[in-house]
Amino acid sequence: MERYGIITSKQKREIVLLRGRGCAYAKCTFCDYHLDKCPDEDANFNLNREVLNRVTGEYGNLEVINSGSVFELDGKTLDYIKEICKSKGINILHFESHYMYRNRIPALRREFSDFTLKMKLGLETFDFDLRENVMCKGISERNPVEISRNFDEANFLFGIFGQTVQSMERDIITGLNLFERICVNIMCENSTSVAPDEKVIAEFKSKLYPKYADNENIDILINNTDFGVGE
Ligand code: SF4
Repeated sequence: MERYGIITSKQKREIVLLRGRGCAYAKCTFCDYHLDKCPDEDANFNLNREVLNRVTGEYGNLEVINSGSVFELDGKTLDYIKEICKSKGINILHFESHYMYRNRIPALRREFSDFTLKMKLGLETFDFDLRENVMCKGISERNPVEISRNFDEANFLFGIFGQTVQSMERDIITGLNLFERICVNIMCENSTSVAPDEKVIAEFKSKLYPKYADNENIDILINNTDFGVGE
């Protein structure tokens, strides 16, 4: 499993895939990366410290992901993230979080007030029925403005049965209106029962990818390892 990568296009940054105690939600039907977890906080810290020691600070911008939410990382890892960022001159720091932790974000921003924090929401789509009845994402809020409150960035998941060019483009446009940046992930085969819909993916690639590929505010991951981390 590669846990360190460098993103050299659009918003250049380093990225680390750390390990936490595990996603406390763990019910999204399409997801198996929440399996990357360990209940032993010391073992997690030792692993995370090694990964963080590879950070150079070359872009002053670091994205931290952990197959779950930042709130599931141990305290020593969080302190070490601060230490590394300070020593390497990193001032922009991205974390991911499930919607259920939204009320803890203001306190996290205060805790990391030496940095500009960019909180990324795992949203997947604004389409309530698809998100909650198919993906089982656990976001009961329907209002897009309300959903985006507390978050700066969002992940979307395309390539699922039922999505159309129109619905995916609606997500992109609304996402760009409500967030500073969005990340589009194309569904890949994994160990869950949710399969990529090749027809939807082909439609995305032919009609939407050419239109948005150069948009500086959208990262598009055709393969889930395109950021250089994962397996
Ligand atoms: S997508 Fe995120 S919130 Fe959902 S189960 Fe996976 S790690 Fe947890």
